[in-house]
Amino acid sequence: MDTIIIDGKQTARSVLQRLSAQIGQLKQSGHTPGLAVVLVGEDPASRVYVNSKVKACEELGIYSQKWALPTETTQEELVQLIRQLNADDRIHGILVQSPPPKHIDEQAVVLAIDPRKDVDGFHPINVAKLVLEDPTGFVPCTPLGCMELLSACGIPTQGKHAVVIGRSMIVGKPMAHLLVGKRANATVTIAHSRTADLPGLCRTADILVAAVGRPGLVTADFIKPGAVVLDVGINRVEDATRPRGYRIVGDVDFASVQPLCSAITPVPGGVGPMTIAMLMSNTVKACKLACGA
Ligand code: NAD
Repeated sequence: MDTIIIDGKQTARSVLQRLSAQIGQLKQSGHTPGLAVVLVGEDPASRVYVNSKVKACEELGIYSQKWALPTETTQEELVQLIRQLNADDRIHGILVQSPPPKHIDEQAVVLAIDPRKDVDGFHPINVAKLVLEDPTGFVPCTPLGCMELLSACGIPTQGKHAVVIGRSMIVGKPMAHLLVGKRANATVTIAHSRTADLPGLCRTADILVAAVGRPGLVTADFIKPGAVVLDVGINRVEDATRPRGYRIVGDVDFASVQPLCSAITPVPGGVGPMTIAMLMSNTVKACKLACGA
């Protein structure tokens, strides 16, 4: 089968180009979108993510603030900073990099963020707006990026059976809501760690989304011939041939699955690049909503 390898880098570039034009227009009318990124602690992967988000802002002309707080920052201090950012008119989006240190209650932090600045889409108000299909809400960036990939590749969703493996609030559940919503009109099944006969269920999927965090979980026996496969997983596996001693793979065993599908996202270079692009998109949206543009 001729398989389309979905190019997330290319689609992310197009999204950023589109945003660049919108940011230009906003600036002409005196509004500059602003994003505050807050990091608590020393986690090296989180630091890389935060830096790449700030860099994306700089390249696009989005005003950004980076707050790198020490590990021993208290819950109250963090909430105090969020209140300050809630009140800062230059800031339209606030992102607290996950995971915070163990003594911080992540849900309490999410609740402290003004829902109008919650560009991660984690606040209960935004979760409700997603379920209600209220377009003024913010949707988590990774599933939003998956939908953008489907649309950019002209992959039809209406009437298709989509199986989403994973039920997290960051990927699985919002992905399922987007697919079942009135814009996509798919019929959706959410699978998880307790699902019976996962391969058999997945073989009924026209669109299969893997958001689990288990390298190579999805193998050829999960795939209906011609299915579209979106691999959200980002997993490190040891690889002595690589300078860092590891390589990044998805949840899908690409080599065995790719020949069976009509389209598939690679890892890296598939869903990953879309996440930051959609964060920029949510920040521009927050600015537009704030200034009534
Ligand atoms: P999570 O750990 O919160 O959720 C994983 C889900 O997988 C759970 O709902 C669990 O029920 C399900 N699961 C676990 N084992 C399973 C099994 N054997 N069979 C079926 N289901 C099983 O993870 P998450 O935050 O949703 O992230 C999932 C993956 O996506 C991770 O690899 C993560 O790194 C990646 N991720 C990528 C991006 C990106 O930008 N591309 C963004 C967020 C997460």
